[in-house]
Amino acid sequence: MSQPGIPAPGGALTGLQAQNGATSASGSPYTNGPIHNELMSSQGYNSQLPGSYSHLIPAKTLNPISGQSKYSGSQTVSPLSNYQGPGQTLHRPPVASNPVTPSLHSGPVPRMPQHASQNPAATPVPSGSFHPGAIVSPPSNWQYNYPSTGSQTNHGPLVSSGPAMSGNTNLTTSHQYVSSGDPSLQNNFIKSGSAPPLVNSPLPTTFQPGAPLGPPPMGGPPPVRAVTTQKSSQGAGPQSLFSSAVSREGITSSTNNGSMVVHNSYDEIEGGGFLATPQLTNKNTTVSRSVGYSYPALPPGYQNTVLPGTAGMPPSSLSYPSGPQAFTQPPLGANHLTASMSGLSLHPEGLRVINLLQERNMLPSTPLQPPVPNLHEDIQKLNCNPELFRCTLTNIPQTQALLNKAKLPLGLLLHPFKDPVLPVVTSSTIVRCRSCRTYINPFVSFLDQRRWKCNLCYQINDVPEEFMYNPLTRVYGESLKRPEVQNATIEFMAPSEYMLRPPQPPVYLFVFDVSHNAVETGYLNSVCQSLLNNLDLLPGNTRTKIGFITFDSTIHFYSLQEGLSQPQMLIVSDIEDVFIPMPENLLVNLNESKELVQDLLKTLPQMFTKTLETQSALGPALQAAFKLMSPTGGRMSVFQTQLPTLGVGALKPREEPNHRSSAKDIHLTPSTDFYKKLALDCSGQQVAVDLFLLSGQYSDLASLGCISRYSAGSVYYYPSYHHQHNPVQVQKLQKELQRYLTRKIGFEAVMRIRCTKGLSIHTFHGNFFVRSTDLLSLPNVNPDAGYAVQMSVEESLTDTQLVSFQSALLYTSSKGERRIRVHTLCLPVVSTLNEVFLGADVQAISGLLANMAVDRSVTASLSDARDALVNAVIDSLSAYRSSVLSGHQPGLMVPFSLRLFPLFVLALLKQKSFQTGTNARLDERIFAMCQVKNQPLVHLMLTTHPNLYRVDNLSDEGALNINDRTIPQPPILQLSVEKLSRDGAFLMDAGSVLMLWVGKNCGQNFLSQVLGVQSYASIPHTMTDLPELDTPESARTIAFISWLREQRPFFPILYVIRDESPVKANFLQNMVEDRTESALSYYEFLLHIQQQVNK
Ligand SMILES: [Zn+2]
Repeated sequence: MSQPGIPAPGGALTGLQAQNGATSASGSPYTNGPIHNELMSSQGYNSQLPGSYSHLIPAKTLNPISGQSKYSGSQTVSPLSNYQGPGQTLHRPPVASNPVTPSLHSGPVPRMPQHASQNPAATPVPSGSFHPGAIVSPPSNWQYNYPSTGSQTNHGPLVSSGPAMSGNTNLTTSHQYVSSGDPSLQNNFIKSGSAPPLVNSPLPTTFQPGAPLGPPPMGGPPPVRAVTTQKSSQGAGPQSLFSSAVSREGITSSTNNGSMVVHNSYDEIEGGGFLATPQLTNKNTTVSRSVGYSYPALPPGYQNTVLPGTAGMPPSSLSYPSGPQAFTQPPLGANHLTASMSGLSLHPEGLRVINLLQERNMLPSTPLQPPVPNLHEDIQKLNCNPELFRCTLTNIPQTQALLNKAKLPLGLLLHPFKDPVLPVVTSSTIVRCRSCRTYINPFVSFLDQRRWKCNLCYQINDVPEEFMYNPLTRVYGESLKRPEVQNATIEFMAPSEYMLRPPQPPVYLFVFDVSHNAVETGYLNSVCQSLLNNLDLLPGNTRTKIGFITFDSTIHFYSLQEGLSQPQMLIVSDIEDVFIPMPENLLVNLNESKELVQDLLKTLPQMFTKTLETQSALGPALQAAFKLMSPTGGRMSVFQTQLPTLGVGALKPREEPNHRSSAKDIHLTPSTDFYKKLALDCSGQQVAVDLFLLSGQYSDLASLGCISRYSAGSVYYYPSYHHQHNPVQVQKLQKELQRYLTRKIGFEAVMRIRCTKGLSIHTFHGNFFVRSTDLLSLPNVNPDAGYAVQMSVEESLTDTQLVSFQSALLYTSSKGERRIRVHTLCLPVVSTLNEVFLGADVQAISGLLANMAVDRSVTASLSDARDALVNAVIDSLSAYRSSVLSGHQPGLMVPFSLRLFPLFVLALLKQKSFQTGTNARLDERIFAMCQVKNQPLVHLMLTTHPNLYRVDNLSDEGALNINDRTIPQPPILQLSVEKLSRDGAFLMDAGSVLMLWVGKNCGQNFLSQVLGVQSYASIPHTMTDLPELDTPESARTIAFISWLREQRPFFPILYVIRDESPVKANFLQNMVEDRTESALSYYEFLLHIQQQVNK
């Protein structure tokens, strides 16, 4: 590792490469050359787990010496070829036979603390992302402003909040998981001794990158603990500087008495919150207020008002005489905002006020684009891609009072691990704010060449010597051209102070239901074949480990130890007290045991074909899998086909068909907390659980889904999967497995979202566990997961022009590198209600409301959630009418930005999660809710408000040209049968499903040239594929459908629908603007809103 402060020749110090995560299909998502992880050599970490890991296995490891045990080598194994079906059973040896054994599992395992959550009675179950209890607002609408005392804030004087935050639902519940006074709970990796009880999240020590060692610059030691700046004892030779850095990071601190106290939680590594010391210097460094274009004053100029000039802006108050070189660079950062305000434009359309009762068709014919924040173009061009990071309000209200007036939710929607092409920086110094730990980003201010001001907490930081060197141009003195300040999205290769332990190897464990029911579906064949095909494409390296467990009423393990002639099966029938036989041979190195793995995958589908075992011991199997993975962490993929019936976690049918249509009394909450608690245990050991539910019957997904939700996994659902009767599901599973097995994956990840001082984040949505205050624990992170957070304005932003939001995702790549992916979003602050409305992002608002509505459905009821959705529209439009519009105006007046708000909310009411009056199965509804929580916004919106296209007359006009392919772009139509005609064919893209409706009088040309049939009557009843015909019509249609499919990670099934088709009901159900038996039409809904607004 290069020493800080000494630029390496030839740019070797800092390499900058483009990374394309999309290449993960090839198994090597990174294109930056051979992997060189110094830790692996310097810390003695090789492809095998270090010895210290083995003793961590919490399983009741059998003592091989135990002679009394029936459990000996020859008895435990049964070669697969001899296997005739379940029945060869292993029993756990009597514990008494081995006096050592109890101590292996009854006492606390070193470095693997028992979580409070493992004691069901003692601890309130921490809440990962939905928050029953104190945050429940009045029944039928949302109060977007939660009291700050109940909020999760990522700054402010943490130390003063202390442990007495008992009134704080969210914080307390999650907090107790971390630090309930038991030192062992403080983090997972405490080495020895007792750390002082954590007071909230540990405070970061001051860290001044690249600066000489010395007293902390804040005029005193950090408030919580003293950290010496001496070299730690392990620092020697070339390591010494590095160790000092470690010391300063607070990872390893030596105290004077020589005992080592290690505060190495991820919380600390990622950086914690703000220092307790107030930043009193903020006020005098206010940048002049001229960031964005100011909107016309009231009354609103909605008749295409010409933008007023922006001349006469005061010059920047932050011009420094020194460092002229830096300031000849293109404008960057807040101190350059005022340089030139000309040329700014907001499309005049955006200033219109619309009467929705008169202009009903506001749906654009091209995909709706997110609003562009009203920032100077020099800033906006550096801003984060809205696909990755967007805010419900692109104009941030300067006070909570203003936000309250708008009655719109303030929150962020993230897709942080999306496969983009992004710059990757390798640098021994990652420049971060020494106070709030924000990563340097394009929106910080450079006061001069030597100092930069944090855009989140306003701390003035030194620019490290090393940062002066630009690796791109190889020129010294070009801080402003560094990739870190030129890219809102960037990834750092993390030096070892970002590691709690050597990066974990990629570990994949597959858990298969092999009960009679499972065998009937025939899924094992598909899954094993898919695994065989993709075995070499699993993201990983030479350290990749793999293992398999199958279960019915017993649990079956498979020894794949290198050198065996074939896999050996071990059956454990004691599901009350699960233990792991030969743990060292069950998760094996994929490269070394590849042939055995392949053998097993070829054999598995046949092994259980004659089984009569109908019971399902899913819970015990999950416990076993958890124990097996605990020492390393990794990904657990669970395939389940029925309601679990045996052992812990057994469930009972709860769905009553007659109640399906009612919004009341449906079981949206888990019937047991077993799966949630196990998920939290998994989370604590860096294990994520993905659940594949392939079931034709009710399987209580509300309970089962918790295993994925809190462990940061995903749920996949294939209702009525059957290898013969349901070929489209088979195709869907195969396609989605292909993606699932080969996509990029991050291990042992944590994510923190920071925002500018004054704003505060209080509620999180997505699949994860909130580990400490605001640190999201993501044992796995995948490129297809989305997240959302709610925010409030805690302190007035009156003196602030710009606010920024930064998400930092620290993860271990499948190549064993520790990486940090950082996204930074910058938005202007506004002071008037009109501006708040003008900047509203209706898609983001709808997406956040959908997340909130799922929570409301669970904590209150579905009807409550539906009411709250409607009231969100009524309240905000009422506020607009009463506070922004002057005088009485008839009709339903909405700002242009919210012209689709009523439509999207109506679409949500008709979405599977929230609809009433249908035969939606409970598990399907729950799955839809899981999707709301876990999908990125773009997919959520498509599921909610599908795109409808006419496709029988596709032309090349306006077509896209991608890689020599011509992709037609037909206009998007309103979702109403009015838009259909019997002589046409219409494609509805509903995200996870594509429906091609063919009218009875559809032209012969389309029938023969695209569908390949002679007449309407000869369209097959179950047509799920288009033939590839040698006609331009066929080529266009297939190109368009393929293009739609390529844009999403899951595989939408195509249904060709004729009038008699059973899928037609679904197609019509998605006609959001039309009336259904239980839901209003769009026009009726608008009238209802208008009535309420004009009250
Ligand atoms: Zn800061």
